[in-house]
Amino acid sequence: MTPITLAQFFHWYYPADGSLWNQLKEKAPELAHQGITAVWLPPAYKGASGGYSVGYDTYDLFDLGEFDQKGSVRTKYGTKADYLAAIEACHKHGIKVIADVVFNHKAGADEAEKMLVRKVDPTNRKEFISDPFEIEAWTKFTFPGRGKQYSDFIWDHTCFSGIDWAKDIEESGIFSIQNEFGEGWEELTEEELGNYDYLMSADIEFRNPHVREELKKWGRWYLELTKVDGFRLDAVKHMSPKMINEWADYVQAITKEHLFIVGEYWNIHRVEALQHYVDATSGRVQLFDAPLHQNFYVASRMGKDYDLQHIFDNSLVSIIPQLAVTLVDNHDTQPLQELESPVEAWFKPIAYALILLRQAGTPCVFYPALYGAHYKDQGDDGQEHEIWLSAVEELPAMIRLRKLLSEGDQHDYFDHPNCIGWVRTGTVENELSGFAVVVSNGSDGWKYMELGTHKAGRKMVDLLGKNSTEIELNDKGGAEFPCPAGNLSIWVTKELAQNFSSL
Ligand code: CA
Repeated sequence: MTPITLAQFFHWYYPADGSLWNQLKEKAPELAHQGITAVWLPPAYKGASGGYSVGYDTYDLFDLGEFDQKGSVRTKYGTKADYLAAIEACHKHGIKVIADVVFNHKAGADEAEKMLVRKVDPTNRKEFISDPFEIEAWTKFTFPGRGKQYSDFIWDHTCFSGIDWAKDIEESGIFSIQNEFGEGWEELTEEELGNYDYLMSADIEFRNPHVREELKKWGRWYLELTKVDGFRLDAVKHMSPKMINEWADYVQAITKEHLFIVGEYWNIHRVEALQHYVDATSGRVQLFDAPLHQNFYVASRMGKDYDLQHIFDNSLVSIIPQLAVTLVDNHDTQPLQELESPVEAWFKPIAYALILLRQAGTPCVFYPALYGAHYKDQGDDGQEHEIWLSAVEELPAMIRLRKLLSEGDQHDYFDHPNCIGWVRTGTVENELSGFAVVVSNGSDGWKYMELGTHKAGRKMVDLLGKNSTEIELNDKGGAEFPCPAGNLSIWVTKELAQNFSSL
């Protein structure tokens, strides 16, 4: 069975020219050939900033670039027809499609309305700092551009639990909307800020049963229309896991195929928080391995002072590998973005080897690592910065190697602070199989490792061409495998290397 390899097919600064869906359609055959088995696409519905919206400011879930709303028919990525055609092209080439969706909040309301609120302490949201009082705020969504097509549901303040702007008194803050569905916020597993239900914009109230029904109705409509194979759920840290369970079970029951559902629970320091969430959702939802990303970021900044033996410490993949979606960077961690923590260029090939060439986890490669990226934006310092991200040269070979040779056992040699390695033993049946990876964050290194007696006498070469020597394995299938300073080497059988591009 081909191992799953995800690609995040966008980044924050992808041009707002409506071309992404068409680009995906064109690239689908190449992606499939490389070994990408699924793509995670950005939100496909209309955001509050229309044709410029990256997609995380949900306005209308039912407008996939079809209606003239928020100043544009198409979204940043194209039209509804483009989107459906791109999905069809992916499916034709055996690539699954994961749709991104934000259920936590809505933005860009059509009308303001009056409601009762209480202010909360922004650093401890459990603490009310005012009595109930009336404000006028933007919480009514009527979707005049779409009318009642696909859904006649009107969202009003009873569909939201919080808002950050009182229009009439021109005051910002975190306002807990007082409604019939419960005092304060929804119950979450996260303890950050007392209760982190409120993230931004108009925060959706899932205790309102009409809201839950509407989101289920949308899920059915979306699945039946687009035929996507799964969902990436944004900001699950800020939503009730009960609601996610109910929604996931509902949409899963619509199709016979297993839906791949991955949640963004961004906690880089406490893997326990991710574990609690996995418990609360009983394994329905996979999670991005945010703490592993953080390890990569820190390791890339520390250079030889980082002890590589600890690279998987505190990671989700080390404790719940079957639910961990491993990544190096994403659209939030890239330079100039909200969670800016880009893994430095020299370490990226190493980080990708650590997620792609090992047994555990479901790896996700990021668009700029495949294609590069160039953009400008303002940084925290108020200055404009120009960013060039280079494609990771070694990446296509690693994705292909993962696709071709993921058989056999894995043996780790994490026994030196600056030089670690591992082998995949391959099988007796597949002569091409078996490989060894050596990583150094210090000087030139080497590691004695064994693939097993079934590989005795085989000749091994560096797939990436970083080392030109040829190594013969001893009668235990072992050898000293070298690796250049601050780099990695991937040793494969000579026969595999010779036939690599035609396999
Ligand atoms: Ca929320």
